[in-house]
Amino acid sequence: MSKLRFEAIIESQKRIPLPIEENGRRSELFAANVFNEEKMLQYLTKDALESVKGAIVSGTKIQRKIADQVAEAMKGWAIGKGATHYTHWFQPLTGSTAEKHDAFFDLLPDGKALEKFGGGQLVQQEPDASSFPHGGIRNTFEARGYTAWDPTSPAFIYGTTLCIPTIFVAYTGEALDNKAPLLRALHAVDDAATAVAKYFDKNVSKVNATLGWEQEYFLIDKSLAMSRPDIVLTGRTLIGQTAAKGQQLDDHYFGVIPGRVLSFMRHLEVECTQLGIPVKTRHNEVAPNQFELAPIFEEANLAVDHNLLLMDVMDKVAKKHNMKVLFHEKPFAGINGSGKHNNWSLATDTGVNLLSPGSTPMKNLQFLTFFVNTIKAVDSYEELLRSSIASASNDHRLGANEAPPAIFSIFIGKQLGSVLDELEGVSKGKLSPEEKTELKLNVVGKIPEIMLDNTDRNRTSPFAFTGNKFEMRGVGSKTNCAKPMTVLNTIVAKQLRDFKIEVDSLIDKKNLKKDEAIFNVLREYIKTSKRIRFDGDGYSQEWEKEAKKRKLSNNKSTPDAIQVLTSKESLELFDSMNVMSGVEVKARQEIELDSYIMHLQIEGRVLNEMVYGYVIPAAIEYQNILIANVGGLKGIYGADYKKMCESQLAIIEGVAEHIAALKSKTDAMVNERKKANVISDSNKKAYAYCDKVRPYFEGIRYHCDKLERLVSDKHWPLTKYRELLFVK
Ligand code: ADP
Ligand code: MG
Repeated sequence: MSKLRFEAIIESQKRIPLPIEENGRRSELFAANVFNEEKMLQYLTKDALESVKGAIVSGTKIQRKIADQVAEAMKGWAIGKGATHYTHWFQPLTGSTAEKHDAFFDLLPDGKALEKFGGGQLVQQEPDASSFPHGGIRNTFEARGYTAWDPTSPAFIYGTTLCIPTIFVAYTGEALDNKAPLLRALHAVDDAATAVAKYFDKNVSKVNATLGWEQEYFLIDKSLAMSRPDIVLTGRTLIGQTAAKGQQLDDHYFGVIPGRVLSFMRHLEVECTQLGIPVKTRHNEVAPNQFELAPIFEEANLAVDHNLLLMDVMDKVAKKHNMKVLFHEKPFAGINGSGKHNNWSLATDTGVNLLSPGSTPMKNLQFLTFFVNTIKAVDSYEELLRSSIASASNDHRLGANEAPPAIFSIFIGKQLGSVLDELEGVSKGKLSPEEKTELKLNVVGKIPEIMLDNTDRNRTSPFAFTGNKFEMRGVGSKTNCAKPMTVLNTIVAKQLRDFKIEVDSLIDKKNLKKDEAIFNVLREYIKTSKRIRFDGDGYSQEWEKEAKKRKLSNNKSTPDAIQVLTSKESLELFDSMNVMSGVEVKARQEIELDSYIMHLQIEGRVLNEMVYGYVIPAAIEYQNILIANVGGLKGIYGADYKKMCESQLAIIEGVAEHIAALKSKTDAMVNERKKANVISDSNKKAYAYCDKVRPYFEGIRYHCDKLERLVSDKHWPLTKYRELLFVK
């Protein structure tokens, strides 16, 4: 009999919340370990500071002499805070972050030791990172990879290492990471949005995309998590009978945070605060042992870095508390999975949120412009946006009866819907003075009042307007937000650029006033993007049918979802916005397919191991006890034994039937896997895994879970849902 499960339970019962010391206020602690503007003011000359700020605001190049100065200052600051090493911190296409530490320590030719870190090391490095996924970009002999400093995201000290956020590119210039395309997309949306914002305010010279993510996660006792091979290797439970109690009582949601968890959260928040991550909200989520953390929103690139850093810090802090964080989108069947809502907006350098209605009709026309253009952009590229959040693990949410659906639609609420309906009736060409007044007073002028009672939020919508921002809800809890943010900002940039061209042409060629031209273009956008607006229940079958009529995509699996990446339209879009070349897009598609294949491959293997190594042996062991019991009764009672053994025999047979079914399904799955493995074309292989291998998982799980119910608790080797989710 396996003891691990029982030892893990005993172990987990011994835990007590770790005491957390908080030295000083959070506001004083904030960004203590970040080389931000405040530190630069202290450590840099005025010239150097101006140069770095120029690079941040307008992307100007930093001269080598200045880089040396910055490096010297960073080194002084970091060593003063106990750092011994530095690293270029980057985001390879694995989805997480990578780092390779180098000591500041160096030797002079005469053998003297000193601390060294110059502009050269700050600006660029060549890590031997050839094992990261590259989708074919680095296949040629000269294709080395470089990391290059991203001055828009400040360096920080984590532990004893100075971390410098960098992009990761091939020698030939192609991006090998998630950050470089994101920076290009943010640049594109800045350009396009600034040009449009100037219609309303000449003083605007920069527009930043803003991102506020909400990170959901599960927190499980470490020993319990480690006792499950599936959690250890795949981040989720592949089998497991659901507990008698799940989330149906809603007693966990927003409930009192358990002691050990609160201690973990406070510890985490202290670490995050020092790293400059503006964490703000913490609470229990719907499912047992599920929680959420949300920060104050930030400029999108910084917010993406902070989310990646957060996930890393969470892992490390959890270990100290003998817990394990599960970022997987669906760690447990039968209860909610985890997502990462991406709240997104655009903000000008004059301090205006472009998706927030204002106090004057002109400001509201500005709001409507950005609002309608975003809707139009999502309508034009809904399938591409859907592709940006596709992954093997997120397939368990999107399109699998869990919030939100795989179909992209936009919820804007009744009141804003009726504003758009009115705008649809605006006259073509020039507007009469009466019409203008009417628009000003009764349509555009009324928006702030409307917004006040726009509280009916539709929780099933994958893309909802929530008062002063859009909320993209399909993003997976594990996903690097850079992917959806790259696509969203690129499509909005493209849309705003087209809008500007159309408006300018009406002004120049048709002699329309600016506001007339804007109304005219918006009217057409409202008309042509109607199909993407949907306020009803996103899970309903009616919507699925309706969406099909509207020709909206409904890609439920990753292979289906990512085909669109290399469509003619997508390639043209990325290329024309200077976000990604065809080579870069194709490489990403290849990497996504490979990653999908590998995830399913690992899950298939683990499932096989669990069936043969745990479930079947446990079932047989228990069956043998019953057989011995039946044999014993027969020995005592002779022919009369049958009456007494009816139940035992039924269980013996039930166990035998499930074992037989389990063996045949598992073997069939392994067989399909072998067939899939010899396919060389990634696309075909991914489909083989999706259509031939994956469908067996459900069936195998079904028989395992039935056996879990039949076999005595004492003989069941795998930690149960009840224990994983409710043992505190
Ligand atoms: P909820 O959606 O949970 O009701 P809120 O609407 O208050 O909560 O905000 C959710 C998230 O939206 C927060 O993380 C917040 O930082 C972010 N957020 C608020 N305003 C913006 C904005 N202008 N741009 C991007 N994110 C924002
Ligand atoms: Mg939310």
